[in-house]
Amino acid sequence: MPPHPPAPLRLTVDLDALAANYRWFAARGEPAECGAAVKADGYGIGARAVVDRLAREGCRDFFVATWCEAAELMPLTEGLRLHVLHGLLPGDLPTALAFDALPVLNTPEQVALWRTAAPDRPCDVMVDTGMNRLGLPATAVGAGLLDGLTVDTLHSHLACADEPDSPTNSRQLAAFRVVADILPARRRALANSAGICLGSDYHFDLTRPGLGLYGGVPHPAAKGHLRPVIRAEAQVLQLRDLSPGDCVGYNATFVASAAMRLAVINLGYADGYLRAFSNHGQAFIGGRSCPVIGRVSMDLTVVDVTALPPIAVGDWVEIDLDLPRASAVSGLSQYELLTCLGPRYQRRYL
Ligand SMILES: *Cc1c(COP(=O)(O)O)cnc(C)c1O
Repeated sequence: MPPHPPAPLRLTVDLDALAANYRWFAARGEPAECGAAVKADGYGIGARAVVDRLAREGCRDFFVATWCEAAELMPLTEGLRLHVLHGLLPGDLPTALAFDALPVLNTPEQVALWRTAAPDRPCDVMVDTGMNRLGLPATAVGAGLLDGLTVDTLHSHLACADEPDSPTNSRQLAAFRVVADILPARRRALANSAGICLGSDYHFDLTRPGLGLYGGVPHPAAKGHLRPVIRAEAQVLQLRDLSPGDCVGYNATFVASAAMRLAVINLGYADGYLRAFSNHGQAFIGGRSCPVIGRVSMDLTVVDVTALPPIAVGDWVEIDLDLPRASAVSGLSQYELLTCLGPRYQRRYL
């Protein structure tokens, strides 16, 4: 076999920045314990690396969506707890019984399944307090549905935590308190990253930040306190000089009004650099901005390097993935920007 070719696209993950962000949320949420959402492969960053690093910071509770994601992280280091947010369907039972992870039970069917299969093993419970996504209705908890089960953590999830002034937050908080007073769970958990920023009323015993750990800014109160975690770079494949009137890319959405010099870089929407960045995104070379020109293609993006000192094929270009800024220019959420980062990036962990 010939040697593996070098990747033309790389993602550098700053695990110290991740750890610093974790410490910020942990301190802000004190005395509640601070967990970490590592679903969707650690928001695209690499769940294994995130779990290992945050475990060193004292994080003990990790959240994934599915048993497939849980299986990827097994075996887990002694003392860590994995919570599976989607609960379980009958087909998950063999996995759920084989692994020491906690299903977050969301429906009466899931409760019945767990009661039959593993009545003595602890589980978590999600109660719906108004988001109308996953979770048991509060009335079911009051009616004794969970009697006899050992509930590790009672959860609910906020719909509008990133809108500090939304009345939905206090309404959900009040509904959660009612259920928390009825159900004898070891711990109670309500806050995601933005929820932690809403204040101590929302912290309870355990928090579940995700986005903010990865450098996303979930709420105005977190601005300036979180470090960027990812840095994306792509290689220049071709340089090209345009004359006025020349057009660029699919559907010729850009037409040059003056002579210009362009660099074609090895990055496209298959790498999560979606077409929303067409004519809106930017890259940096030597700290100087190079606007995205024309439409982003599947594997290629074109940037304007007219104003820059000479560059060469093979040079590395940094893609602007400052999450709040990239979200504002593209209309994509910070979550989408992270979780769409594709498998073609070579991930390097600092
Ligand atoms: C994804 C998720 C989180 C983490 O939310 P962030 O907004 O990324 O901090 C917390 N709780 C639940 C139930 C989730 O699904």
